[in-house]
Amino acid sequence: QVRVRFAPSPTGPLHIGGVRTALFNYLFAKKHGGVFYLRIEDTDQNRYVEGAEEYIIEALNWCGIPFDEGVGKEGKFGPYRQSERKEIYKQYALNLIENGWAYYAFDTPEALDTLRATAEAEGKTFIYNHAIRETMETSLKLSAEETQQRIENGEHYVIRFKTPVNETLHLKDIIRGDIKFETNLLDDKVLFKSDGMPTYHLANIVDDHLMETSHVIRGEEWLPSLPLHELLYRAFGWEAPQFAHLPLILKPVGNGKLSKRDGDKLGFPVFPLEWKNTDGTVSSGYREKGFLPEAVINFLALLGWNSGTDQELFTLDELVQLFDLERVHKAGAKFDPEKNKWFNHQYFTRQPNDVVAQQFNHTLVERGINKPIDYVTDAVALVKERASFASELWDLADFFFVAPTAYDEKPAKNWKPETAEVMERLIGVLENITDFSSQNVESIVKAWMEENEIGMGKVMQPLRLSLVGAVKGPHLFDITTLIGKAETISRIQKAIA
Ligand code: GLU
Repeated sequence: QVRVRFAPSPTGPLHIGGVRTALFNYLFAKKHGGVFYLRIEDTDQNRYVEGAEEYIIEALNWCGIPFDEGVGKEGKFGPYRQSERKEIYKQYALNLIENGWAYYAFDTPEALDTLRATAEAEGKTFIYNHAIRETMETSLKLSAEETQQRIENGEHYVIRFKTPVNETLHLKDIIRGDIKFETNLLDDKVLFKSDGMPTYHLANIVDDHLMETSHVIRGEEWLPSLPLHELLYRAFGWEAPQFAHLPLILKPVGNGKLSKRDGDKLGFPVFPLEWKNTDGTVSSGYREKGFLPEAVINFLALLGWNSGTDQELFTLDELVQLFDLERVHKAGAKFDPEKNKWFNHQYFTRQPNDVVAQQFNHTLVERGINKPIDYVTDAVALVKERASFASELWDLADFFFVAPTAYDEKPAKNWKPETAEVMERLIGVLENITDFSSQNVESIVKAWMEENEIGMGKVMQPLRLSLVGAVKGPHLFDITTLIGKAETISRIQKAIA
């Protein structure tokens, strides 16, 4: 059975790279009728951030990619929060020591700092690895009794992995293919600390095994950990899951990975939900900016994956059907805010008018405007195509609700000395129309202009200015019809007064 996981560390808000990782795991699980679970990797207490876990859960739910098992949705592999699994990891660390795959190291942080400084002074980097491990304060050098004694004395220690020497690892990644790696390049990573906490590597491998993870789908930044992870599976005698490392998401301009801070620089959200930073500033979120979750998901799905066709709009169900790891790209995917907006436009405009009208009505009520919802719906229908967000509707449709108080470009280009007189005559024409439907008004006004040889520009632009206050808005006679005869005439009178 396919069992995949999203395993974030609760160190802050999830950024879209994380959401994309969660999405690809979700799609892969659903495509194969498998399970998508959430594991909270919170063993690094120093990096723990209050509220981050709740944020992650809320974000996945908002995006419409909920997990099947996880924190708050216990399945048979729980608990799903690593800090609650503390007891489990120690026995596995000890097991590695017993089998010669790991060792105790008693070096103090100060001693290590000194070694680092000395190496640096010589222009080198200190690496704790096979070349020096025998010379360090470790159970490899000390006798078994001495080691035991020092642990009982409560001395600070860590358990380090004993990386095999002189071996070429042949690793496999579903996206990247075969990868060769020399074990001599690896350091002896810390797996467990005397405070009783495992490090990421140990907890991650133990849990992926115990939770029966079939595929590990995660960001490319974890690729350097793959050799160690494969070695850990070997050391435990476990079958490793299959790995797939997703391409990085790159900044829109220049090079480098899109960072959590880029959102503020771009003036564009890179987080699903708003997040209050410790310094009091707020990083904006897609939800609060009026993005639709379907649009965000569609956009993210195409960051590093393609369906092999030109199709760009996909429902979540379609994505589930089409998704496969073979079509995930190796190269980084550029984050394009304009494209992101384009997707929102597509989904925004596809919403039914009455749904958009309900949203828009909140804005109207806030502004003290109370119009029948049918009227709001008709106004929405006329301007929706031009908007990407509900927040843009007011600027596009304000004139349906309030008469203009100022007029652009009047009297310059569109407002000539004779305009007032022409408008006066137009009022006379409008007054006599009983069927005020758009088509009827248009044909009567046009017939009148032709008969009297009045040019289009002489009537249309001033009329638009009178009704809207600016040279913008939908088809002119759709406006006259919606605001109605009395309002149309009154606005013209006001404009020429
Ligand atoms: N806790 C790691 C993270 O924050 C998980 C990496 C992995 O998926 O193995 O991304």
